[in-house]
Amino acid sequence: MQRDDCIFCKIAAGEIPSTKVYEDDAVVAFEDLSPMMPVHTLIVPRNHYDNIADGIPVEEMGRLFEAVGKVADLKGVRESGFRVVVNTGDDACQSVHHVHVHVLGGAQMNDGDPSLPQA
Ligand code: AMP
Repeated sequence: MQRDDCIFCKIAAGEIPSTKVYEDDAVVAFEDLSPMMPVHTLIVPRNHYDNIADGIPVEEMGRLFEAVGKVADLKGVRESGFRVVVNTGDDACQSVHHVHVHVLGGAQMNDGDPSLPQA
């Protein structure tokens, strides 16, 4: 289930370069091109879903979030803490319409606005 016009499908398939952090048969994790934090990794399912509410089967949803802990370990933020963000739709400023989990960390964040992963 790949979309020809989807940049994250192409990254998952290795057709566009990325700095990979982790991959398995279900997901690929790679560094965000414009990091907002010292640690800013994206996790995507290999199959295309527009967003988190796009009917992702439970097994694949589980695999997507199972990868969060693996990425946190690989990036060294499990102990210090990190934030997980899944922007969905226009109001949340989702810019790439292939569901992705942002893993953000590596510095102290504000706690005022949960939508802003700012240091
Ligand atoms: P969102 O605003 O939640 O849709 O986040 C999309 C994220 O994808 C942004 O943080 C972008 O910096 C990131 N991004 C876009 N294109 C690429 C790319 N080719 N490689 C890595 N990250 C990308």
